[in-house]
Amino acid sequence: MSPTQTPQAQRAAELRQLLSRAAHAYYVLDAPEMEDAVYDRLYRELLDLETAHPELITPDSPTQRVGGAPAEGFQSVRHRIGLLSLDNAFNTAELEAWYTRLLKVLDREPAAGEPEPPLAMVGELKIDGNALALSYANGLLLRAATRGDGEQGEEITANVRTIASLPLRLQLEQPPAWVEVRGEALIPDATFAAINAERAARGEALFANPRNACAGTLRQLDPRVVAARRLDFFAYTLHLPADWQPGRGDPPRPTSQWESLQWLRAAGFKVNPNAALLPDLAAVEAFFAQWDEGRRRLPYATDGVVVKLDDLRLQDAAGFTQKAPRWAIALKYPAEEAPSRLLRLSCQVGRTGVVTPVAEFEPVPLAGTVVGRATLHNADRLAELDLHAGDTIVVRKAGEIIPEVLRVLPALRPAGAVRLELPHTCPECGSELVREQGEAATRCVNSSCPAILRGALRHWVSKGALDVDGLGSKLIEQLVDRGLVGSIADLYGLDAAVLASLDRMGPKSAENLVVALAASRAQPWSRQLYGLGIHHVGEVNAKALAKAFISAADLATAASETPELITAVYGIGGEIAQSLQQWFATLANQQLLARLEQLGFSLAASEAELAAAGGSGAAGSATLAGQTFVLTGTLPSLSRSQAQALIEAAGGKVSGSVSKKTSYVVAGAEAGSKLSKAESLGVAVLDEAGLQALLLSAGAVA
Ligand code: NAD
Repeated sequence: MSPTQTPQAQRAAELRQLLSRAAHAYYVLDAPEMEDAVYDRLYRELLDLETAHPELITPDSPTQRVGGAPAEGFQSVRHRIGLLSLDNAFNTAELEAWYTRLLKVLDREPAAGEPEPPLAMVGELKIDGNALALSYANGLLLRAATRGDGEQGEEITANVRTIASLPLRLQLEQPPAWVEVRGEALIPDATFAAINAERAARGEALFANPRNACAGTLRQLDPRVVAARRLDFFAYTLHLPADWQPGRGDPPRPTSQWESLQWLRAAGFKVNPNAALLPDLAAVEAFFAQWDEGRRRLPYATDGVVVKLDDLRLQDAAGFTQKAPRWAIALKYPAEEAPSRLLRLSCQVGRTGVVTPVAEFEPVPLAGTVVGRATLHNADRLAELDLHAGDTIVVRKAGEIIPEVLRVLPALRPAGAVRLELPHTCPECGSELVREQGEAATRCVNSSCPAILRGALRHWVSKGALDVDGLGSKLIEQLVDRGLVGSIADLYGLDAAVLASLDRMGPKSAENLVVALAASRAQPWSRQLYGLGIHHVGEVNAKALAKAFISAADLATAASETPELITAVYGIGGEIAQSLQQWFATLANQQLLARLEQLGFSLAASEAELAAAGGSGAAGSATLAGQTFVLTGTLPSLSRSQAQALIEAAGGKVSGSVSKKTSYVVAGAEAGSKLSKAESLGVAVLDEAGLQALLLSAGAVA
């Protein structure tokens, strides 16, 4: 097979083409075609391919050049000293590998078993702007240029002169014959927002980000426009002629990057105040971690930190690769967007039957975690994305937000790829899927669909509902798959011996589960109502409804006959009333309620709940109003939240600490210091049976 035919060669060719186009759009047209993080990831993929297969490197590969060619419309100028790019590290392991390589180049590798010697480095913020090369002659700004391809840039002196924070004359007594200063021009976030708002008002295309806006501004043909955009500039690199001697009040000739920053500051430049002199790699990592948070409070965009070897002689010794200095590296913060390859489209059927398409893709690190699945929401979103099998997709996870597929890169689509759509039948039960007119959701309407049943069971036992411990998703899956449970009610007929025979279950856990299920019958009416999983009836709505309608029978009557009583409840609207009406009118649901009642569920507020709610049927002096309880240790059958709910329903209060005012401490197995404190203060101690008896006398449990 010739190298051009291997899959790697094909992929490299695809990537070269895509990245070259993107770089042109980015550097020359100032109109990026993709997110920077996506570009970076694809660039890295190409670089890795070329490292593993050097025969694939072509002279026109984007990995072989710096930036973009100078744009037309400006005079192109050759830099006195090349203005290169920076190599990137995307995590601290890559930073450490860079450091090890650096030691090797400097001939400072440690002997076997010895730690790596520390080298002082300067940590600077990586400001997301545009590099500028400034030439001063005898102290006066002579010329300013963009980086361009690193050797030649565009001459933009007239525009750069409008940057107020940049000295037109150096504040030196003895200015050198020439000085080359490099730094970053930037547009602060607030100015960026104002520029885009103006552009939107004029119907013009928006800039993708501040860096892109800055590049576009620097290339304006009219310097008055540039002046109005109020750019800023931070200086970070200094080149001086070998023979320069400082005047009396001038800063000394720098021997390190740190001193260069001081020199620049003394000469009148704005230097970013957040740079730090760092004694070793551990300090660099701490600096990186510190600014991950800190940078969010800065008024301008940053995308990482730049780490530079401090000693200028060592910098000289380390030298450059074709593209970047060996003595510096850009350590980038985890991307919130990245490309990945779609592996398959799967579908999830929720407890309400809604079918959600899910993209499963090659796992990628995103914003600190590894992500391999993202919801595609519904059929409309799927169609809008125009997803095909094997597509390269752009995935995003901003902060805590659930991962999502932003878009597809059609240029990387495999030839003849099939367009993906939602299936017509339910992947779980095979019944025809339904999409009501005007609804975004596609649903499975088969009420005995195993996926819907699993969802309903998971919801019923969840924390906010009946809160049954020991009944997780895996166990529910087994119960449904083996046909042991066909409805919520069936859970209560499960026998410990059968449960014990299931995977990952034993006699003890089976016994505990039976006890927990039995105890769940004492959960208050609002939790029972929430547990039924009626569409739109979440925890808050269930509480409000349970307070206003003291039983399922009352609520059902109101739903069918007087929905206005339902919508009169604070926070409850017509949509909920309609959903309740539909739910109670469904025969299967009526049968479920009847069975739950037979099983001992109240499906109604207890006396104690009524009393706590200030209702009429209060048991007066029998309630626990005014009494404070502290729970400690593990009770044999009630979970903490169940015990707390029962106490609160009976009007009592639960507190976290024992004092003389505590009425009772309820202690279970392995009770700790709270029990000893109760004993020392002479507070009454109850076990679970004692609590049940107290609740019974308060009318809280039947
Ligand atoms: P880079 O941005 O990764 O790093 C080099 C640049 O960092 C320097 O030129 C300088 O401008 C800047 N910098 C900021 N603070 C600095 C400091 N304290 N010291 C030194 N330099 C500092 O590399 P690059 O070669 O400019 O280009 C790659 C960047 O351009 C990537 O972020 C990439 O995502 C983006 N890009 C995007 C697209 C796209 O389609 N979205 C296309 C091409 C390039």
